[in-house]
This record gives sequence, structure tokens and C-alpha cells, in this order.
Amino acid sequence: MSSPDFAPWSHLSSRSDLKCAPGVTKRYLPVVPEGHTIAKIARDHSKLIVGMPVAVSSPQGRFAADAERVDGATIERIEAHGKHLFHCWSTGEIGHVHLGLFGKYRVHKTDDPPEPQGAVRMRIVAPDVTVDLNGPTACTVDDPSVRKRILARLGPDPIKPRQNPQRMYDKIAKSSRSIGDLLMDQSVVAGVGNVYRAEALFVCEIHPLRPGKECDAAELEALWATITGMLRQGVKDGRILTVSREESGVPRGKRIPRSEATYAYKRNSCLRCGSEIQRLDIANRTSYHCPICQPR
Ligand SMILES: [Zn+2]
Repeated sequence: MSSPDFAPWSHLSSRSDLKCAPGVTKRYLPVVPEGHTIAKIARDHSKLIVGMPVAVSSPQGRFAADAERVDGATIERIEAHGKHLFHCWSTGEIGHVHLGLFGKYRVHKTDDPPEPQGAVRMRIVAPDVTVDLNGPTACTVDDPSVRKRILARLGPDPIKPRQNPQRMYDKIAKSSRSIGDLLMDQSVVAGVGNVYRAEALFVCEIHPLRPGKECDAAELEALWATITGMLRQGVKDGRILTVSREESGVPRGKRIPRSEATYAYKRNSCLRCGSEIQRLDIANRTSYHCPICQPR
């Protein structure tokens, strides 16, 4: 099984975890960041490190030359688009971060920057906070053309205001690729990952192998609305929670556990009809669907 869904924590997450009997506690593990995580990071970090001169360094060394270009400068704005994060520096330059599979931010709210934990690629120090970044796929400082180039190849981001879903509709409507594949393509729609793919297709009752061009206009509009609602809710909640409180069966006031937070993703049986959830490999990730609620 080479699916990145099971890496790098494949040694912890076994297939038997997925097949344990109903009612048995499942061990859920960190998932790859989707757009809601990046949007939340942009919002949270904006409150901490925007608008004041900051010290920038690379304890690990790989970002050292880029760090020097902006060390002592001010971040004027932090922007997220899909899974990409941009720092707009007072020097006119643009910092670009993509967390990928392994990237992780750590925020230390202290006057004294602590010893770096692991290989800290980028460290940003403001008066009372240190923000460390370990293990990103991309972490660079470049001229603004880089941001433009990246945005040009990304689809609309449903979390952001004033995005035009028509670009997503057009791409899907003329494609014979499956909708499960298309939703993971960041040039079609930015920010959707494996969990939201499964959940949005479930709610819209679309089989993940349906060719894009066989989805009608009403279905595409429903998909955009569903993805928008789910991702924006994810930013608010700071987690992925797609089921309604009623359907979850968890009483009001009680936290819905991760194992009960989705309709199809990593479930053994469908929350609505009880059928066994089917798994497919689509776009190199395990896709989950209900064969009854999402007929082909
Ligand atoms: Zn079902």
C-alpha cells in the first residue's frame, strides 16, 4: 500500500484499525493538512507576527539564505490560498510555504525563543512569540512573481470571498477523469484533500468514479456549496467535522469524537444506511464511499 494516506504514520495505522468491529475504539491519526488548516494558520499567525519587525532565521540551515533577505523586516500580510501560505514582506518579497505531508508549525508564546525542536527550517521571532516551521515541502522567499505564478495554476479557494466557482465547473464539465480524481486536483479547486473529498461527495450523493463530464450543473453547484460550507466550518472549528449533530447521535454539549465526525471517511459502515463503506485508490489516496447512498 503506497498511498500517502498511510504514510508517514503507516507504522501506527494498520488496515486492521480500519476493519475493527463497530463500537471498538479506533485509533485515529493525524491527517494531511487540507485548506481549512492553512486558512486557520494564516488567521492565527496574522494576530501574532504581522505588523512588527521580526527576526527570521533557519536553525536547520536550509532556509538560511532566504531568511537573511527578510531578517528584521515586517510581515504586512499573511494570505492562504488552498494549501499554500504566503507571507507578504515589507521588502516587497513574498514568502511561500507549503506544508506537504510532513510540515508542521509550532508556536511558542514566550519572550525567550526556546531551543529549536528537531530540524526547524524557518524561525520567526516577534517580541513575545516564536513561530517555528519544521519539515515543509516548500519554504522560500522570492520576488512577487512567484506568488502570481502559483495562484495562476490553482483553482478557486472556497474559503476565500469573491471566488469564481465557474472555473471549477468548466474544468470538471469537460473532463472524462473521475470526480474523485478531479476534486484532489488543486488546479480544479484549491484546498480540498482526502477527507473533504470523501465527505463532500457523500453529502452530494455522487460516486467518486463518476466522470466529471457526467456531473450536471446542479450537482456541481451543490458540490461547490458543500465544499465551501465544510471548509469554512473547518476553519471555525479547527478540525474536520462534517456530520450533523443529529446524525452523529452525540448529545448536545458533548464533543463529537473524531471517529464519529465523518459520514464516510475511514468509516466501516455508512452513517446513513449502514452499508459497508467501499474503498478505492483514486489520485493515489484511499477514497471512501457508500455504494447505496452514492450509486454509480
Ligand atoms: Zn449509505
